[in-house]
Amino acid sequence: MKYIRTHGIILRVRHGKNKDRIITLLTPDRGKITVVAKGSRDMKSKNCAVMNEHYCVSCQLYFGHGMPIITQTKLLKSYLKTRDIHLLSYLSYLAETIEILMEEEHFVDKIYPLAEEAFGLVNKDNYKIILPFFTLKLLTYLGYIQQMNICSNCRNALRDSKKAYLDSGCNVICENCKNESSKEFPLEGVKLLFFCQKNNLADLLKIDISKNLQPFFTEISQGLFETITNRKRKSESFLKYFTLLG
Ligand SMILES: [Zn+2]
Repeated sequence: MKYIRTHGIILRVRHGKNKDRIITLLTPDRGKITVVAKGSRDMKSKNCAVMNEHYCVSCQLYFGHGMPIITQTKLLKSYLKTRDIHLLSYLSYLAETIEILMEEEHFVDKIYPLAEEAFGLVNKDNYKIILPFFTLKLLTYLGYIQQMNICSNCRNALRDSKKAYLDSGCNVICENCKNESSKEFPLEGVKLLFFCQKNNLADLLKIDISKNLQPFFTEISQGLFETITNRKRKSESFLKYFTLLG
């Protein structure tokens, strides 16, 4: 039995039994953790108003038998500042990406600052950059992908290759390693992938990234995510729907 004080971003809220809520929280010190908010669906509960997705809350966690219990919550910040359905679709995408990729209580120190940055930065003008690069950075931090300026097959530097390619699993490969099913990928894009692995998302936004390259990043981040997890994100269809609406 122990109590800890922490804070975190609420990634997902589900109904539990009685009037409980099951909360998936991303914390700076314990990674992703699933906790129960006892009776928080009761309007009289102090926890009732702050247990919403995309809120950052301070809280106390109690570790006893079974699922940890969250109490003494206080709202620090809401990332969904307005009832903006577009913003909601971007935040849901970020939250679902973290939820699927991270194991329970797997702690990697760079992940919370990355999530905090992405949640705070994403908007209608930059989501085509933030969402794919967030996924790629998260995959990098979790050790699923290696340095992206080298061929993922023969490990030679891609700058020595005249062209870069994507294999069927969306891994970046060199000219020598390509086959008939490989698709060409601009070398300029390879530089940006590597830059993104080493720098903050805010630094990436300072670069003037050509609109022609953007679809490649969406394709590579989705492709790698699906190859690694063997599933699609539900929030992707939500996102596509709003993107089509413009
Ligand atoms: Zn190669």
